[in-house]
Amino acid sequence: MAKQVVVIGAGMVGVCCALSLRRRGMVVTLIDRREPGQETSFGNSGVFSRSSVFPINGPGMLQKLPAYLTNRHPAVRWRGSLLSNPRWILGFLAECTKNSTGRRSRALDGLIKHSMGLNRKLMGEAQLLSHLLETGWLKVWRGVDGAGTAQAEAAPLNSFGIATQVLDATGIARLEPHAAPVFKAGLLISDSASVDDPGAVVSGYAALARDRGVVILRAEARALYRTTTGWRIETTRDSYDGDAVVVALGPWSAELLRPLGFRVPMGFERGYHVHLAMPEGAGPQRAIHDVDGGFVVSPMRAGARVTSGVELAGRDALANNMQIDAAVRLARETFALGAPVEVKPWLGSRPTLPDSLPMIGELPGAIGLYAAFGHQHIGFSTGSGTGEIIAAAIAGEAPPIDASAFAAGRFV
Ligand SMILES: Cc1cc2nc3c(=O)[nH]c(=O)nc-3n(C[C@H](O)[C@H](O)[C@H](O)COP(=O)(O)OP(=O)(O)OC[C@H]3O[C@@H](n4cnc5c(N)ncnc54)[C@H](O)[C@@H]3O)c2cc1C
Repeated sequence: MAKQVVVIGAGMVGVCCALSLRRRGMVVTLIDRREPGQETSFGNSGVFSRSSVFPINGPGMLQKLPAYLTNRHPAVRWRGSLLSNPRWILGFLAECTKNSTGRRSRALDGLIKHSMGLNRKLMGEAQLLSHLLETGWLKVWRGVDGAGTAQAEAAPLNSFGIATQVLDATGIARLEPHAAPVFKAGLLISDSASVDDPGAVVSGYAALARDRGVVILRAEARALYRTTTGWRIETTRDSYDGDAVVVALGPWSAELLRPLGFRVPMGFERGYHVHLAMPEGAGPQRAIHDVDGGFVVSPMRAGARVTSGVELAGRDALANNMQIDAAVRLARETFALGAPVEVKPWLGSRPTLPDSLPMIGELPGAIGLYAAFGHQHIGFSTGSGTGEIIAAAIAGEAPPIDASAFAAGRFV
């Protein structure tokens, strides 16, 4: 008989898990308290990033730490006490060594590489190719030392087989004719892509899942129980049983697992976005990471989406618009963009574990209970690969890539 699987959370990760499970003939129920793709997977920069193989907490972070600790750096701000989540912050900093980073980069490279092909395939199957911008992903620097930094970043990426092109001001102007001449150097990663509406992409994947027989329910998950044959998820609507349950609740994943004794050290790298009206012939041609400005600007259907750097704070702490306001000012100096489209900025949380690797797999001592969360800055890119790893594990197949670095038992 076909296995019954309940996936909780319909962000990019949960929807991709549902699709991969269904493809293997399982009976799949996908539960979310909102419509699919309305939380973190809605508000991101929309980049399918081939090059995000170096976790943010690498050796470079230790060099930047004094600047970050001033709490004035546009890329990383923090609110309240950095020690309010001690297990996470101490674990996060402890991973900044060269050895740990090498191991984690190899793991991330495997996941990202596998996901990139799947993303393009899924976009086609879900008839979403009109949302896909195959214009690469551009990093730019304003400072005079930018050229050296771009060169230094290219070499390690090339060692993973990721093609790059180092650009000077003229090369950037050729690619981005509407940008003011403020960038001294750039790095183009051509084997990356972006989308012009991440929320629409996830809801398009969900529609494909529904067409293929996944039952999608709107309900809030309240508790998880073991049954004699598997797991029961109790929701505001009803209780649902599965031979297996996949927890794909992004930044909300730790709470549901805690009563079962799993203490997941989740950190929240919050981020904001604002859309600015983008008159014809004024905006960026591709997603651009302004490294010195500490923000990303991506062309979206709703306008130019400016996303802020990281804000370390409690997931539910009040918003503080300082970081995104500064990013918006700089973006408008760079491109002739119009007024903000929405009344207030969007705010979400990148769900990050201390080693900046997602947890993908069966939880220790809990046969049939699977973790699929903690995708930090790259969950939009790697939901598809995660779905394949989870579905292969539940189906009893060999994993499609070496997923040992993502083992769910490593912190709990
Ligand atoms: C500013 C910013 C920019 C980013 N840019 C990029 C990028 O360019 N590229 C990239 O790859 N990644 C990017 N990311 C990261 C990426 O967005 C996340 O890693 C990814 O969206 C996580 O997906 P998820 O499915 O795990 O979580 P989510 O999308 O948050 O999904 C979790 C789901 O769980 C549901 N839920 C929560 N609690 C319950 C409950 N109790 N019961 C039922 N349902 C519940 C929520 O409604 C939600 O739909 C960015 C993130 C941010 C914040």
